[in-house]
Amino acid sequence: MKALCWHGKGDIRCETVDDPEIQDGRDAIIRVTSCAICGSDLHLYGGFVPGMKSGDVMGHETMGEVVAVGKDNTKLKVGDRVVVPFTISCGECDYCRRGLYSVCERSNPNGAEQAKMLGYPTAGLFGYTHMYGGFPGGQAEYLRVPYADVGPIKVPNGLSDDQVLFLSDIFPTGWMAAENADIQPGHTVLVFGCGPVGQFAIRSAFMMGAERVIAIDEVPERLRLAEAAGAETIDFSAVKGELQDEILAMTRDAARTRSSRPSAWKATARAP
Ligand SMILES: [Zn+2]
Ligand SMILES: [Zn+2]
Repeated sequence: MKALCWHGKGDIRCETVDDPEIQDGRDAIIRVTSCAICGSDLHLYGGFVPGMKSGDVMGHETMGEVVAVGKDNTKLKVGDRVVVPFTISCGECDYCRRGLYSVCERSNPNGAEQAKMLGYPTAGLFGYTHMYGGFPGGQAEYLRVPYADVGPIKVPNGLSDDQVLFLSDIFPTGWMAAENADIQPGHTVLVFGCGPVGQFAIRSAFMMGAERVIAIDEVPERLRLAEAAGAETIDFSAVKGELQDEILAMTRDAARTRSSRPSAWKATARAP
């Protein structure tokens, strides 16, 4: 199959590699129909994360169609469409049972080595260095999914890849940022940075009931996307004085802005 392979800082190549195979009874193999590039991939691209080896397959935001399942996997069947989360989790260890899937004790075979560097072990991750298990990633034609009866989310009929792909990582990341802010209905929320995580944090804040979201960035297309979600925006590179004064002015004079930008997102969003 074809896959994107890491060969060093700034050196990623599309190459032919071995097709993945079922290695464990709970595995599944998926034919990848969509995958995304994450900011975390840029950390690998820039050579900032140790533990990569030449030829490692990249990618952890992946979805596709199941083409093979292990004999012990009763959750998935050939033909299912699934979104595959970044984290690989066994579903049975103490942490998994408490819902703390990102620190699964079983899925990272290199956890002991990793703990020496990070101070603690984490779950295995797709396409994210040997420190996180050395699992081939999903920027490839096919992906082996370990513990595929735990993480993968079956896609209901009628939803396109574009509508669900970001459940693999970036939407939950933005959602969690908003969740950590303990947003209550009527709150005004400030989002610094309108990259992909910021965009999903903006939308999550509205879904949680925020009355206003003020989004801050300097990239015009990011600011436009934030506005399309109903956020008020500040281009920080155009602020003459202190950014804080600008924010205080907007929030002090709430009546001025509250009615000026109806939110298309708010009108359609429903909390899950
Ligand atoms: Zn990601
Ligand atoms: Zn586990």
